[in-house]
Amino acid sequence: MRAEQPHGSPESSPTREDCLALDRSDSLAWARDEFVLPRDVIYLDGNSLGAMPKVMPARIDTCLREEWGNGLIRSWQDAGWIDAPMRVGAKIAPLVGADPGEVIVTDSTSINVYKLLFGALHALPGRTTILTIEGDFPTDSYVAEGLIRTLGKGHRLLRAKAGDLQRSVDSDTAVVLFTHVDYRTGRMHNVAEVTRAAHAHGALVLCDLSHSAGAVPVDLEAWGVDLAVGCGYKYLNGGPGAPAFLYVRRGLQDVIANPLTGWMGHADTFAFADAYVPATGIRRYLCGAPVILGVDALECALDAWAGIRIADVRAKSIALTELFIQLVDGSAELRELSIVSPREPADRGSQVTLQHEASREIVGALSDRLVLTDYRPPDLIRFGFAPLYLRFVDVWDAVRHLSAVMTGDEWQAKRGAPLRFVP
Ligand SMILES: *Cc1c(COP(=O)(O)O)cnc(C)c1O
Repeated sequence: MRAEQPHGSPESSPTREDCLALDRSDSLAWARDEFVLPRDVIYLDGNSLGAMPKVMPARIDTCLREEWGNGLIRSWQDAGWIDAPMRVGAKIAPLVGADPGEVIVTDSTSINVYKLLFGALHALPGRTTILTIEGDFPTDSYVAEGLIRTLGKGHRLLRAKAGDLQRSVDSDTAVVLFTHVDYRTGRMHNVAEVTRAAHAHGALVLCDLSHSAGAVPVDLEAWGVDLAVGCGYKYLNGGPGAPAFLYVRRGLQDVIANPLTGWMGHADTFAFADAYVPATGIRRYLCGAPVILGVDALECALDAWAGIRIADVRAKSIALTELFIQLVDGSAELRELSIVSPREPADRGSQVTLQHEASREIVGALSDRLVLTDYRPPDLIRFGFAPLYLRFVDVWDAVRHLSAVMTGDEWQAKRGAPLRFVP
């Protein structure tokens, strides 16, 4: 909260000219041109659905016409469809500090949480607790509860407050399940510390990277993380409902079992044997045939990362969020909005969340002005800053629109109006 922060001290606020200058000296500025962004739209929701790379339609067209249309069944081999989950996983690996062979693209994040939670509970049969963070992204705990019901062995899901996570690990904890960057507040957890605490008690760690992969540095190996999942359609720009990814530390791949033992995870898929034998390595976490159109789109989006260093992405992300916070602090019109994201950049992902009792109406009014953000109940407005395609001047313009919305009667007019569905 920012009760101590004075509003309306414009002498310290950057001007629009300052922001244009920042864009001119931005070493990532060129990357914006790789994406389709509608004119006049200020897109602050790339943390929810990434923008489309310009080469995507041609790439999908090739996949359809040449690979499917012409190649037909031959394309499983000739176009590399059969290896796509491993190949695309290997392209995600450097973004999360993993080796090729430790990451695979498959299924959705929710299903991957299910698979890896099962694997963790199965590997530590004497332990009954899945430990998670209160208020974390709900699909993860819904899936945990569903798994517990399915197993029927008396496991339980324990929710700790974010600050108490490490202290709450004990000798009954099988796995600590948490999101690296909180979807609501943008708070970034210290994964290495949580992992140390978990390991000190013999527990495993399953980290959800949905709000961090492609936005902040992730170093799974250095942090000692055992298991991870992440989303393909947020900062990785794989398209709506893009397949997700899954990481299992190499040394654990023989220990963490996949409960969804489908033919694609079999040691010899095309032997069509009666008995299931898991593949060695990361391929065992496949279940059925990969959704090639989705995997292909994600691969295309990942190719946009060639030549981009995540350290530069992080530096720009911090600069964008710092600018936003500074401008909000400096705007007298915004005094009714409080910043709920951490003010310390090291504790923050690539998003800033504001709080206001009329957040829903404000998001609607901003959308009318072509400033796309999103609303999370009961009273939060999320501003996502995708460093590959957001400009500093967009941040300046967005704050100006927000100020205009708060000053005029635009948001009051939204009372009771249906809000467009934003997943
Ligand atoms: C977006 C997101 C998901 C998405 O799950 P899907 O099953 O791919 O829809 C899961 N977990 C977190 C933390 C997310 O932010």
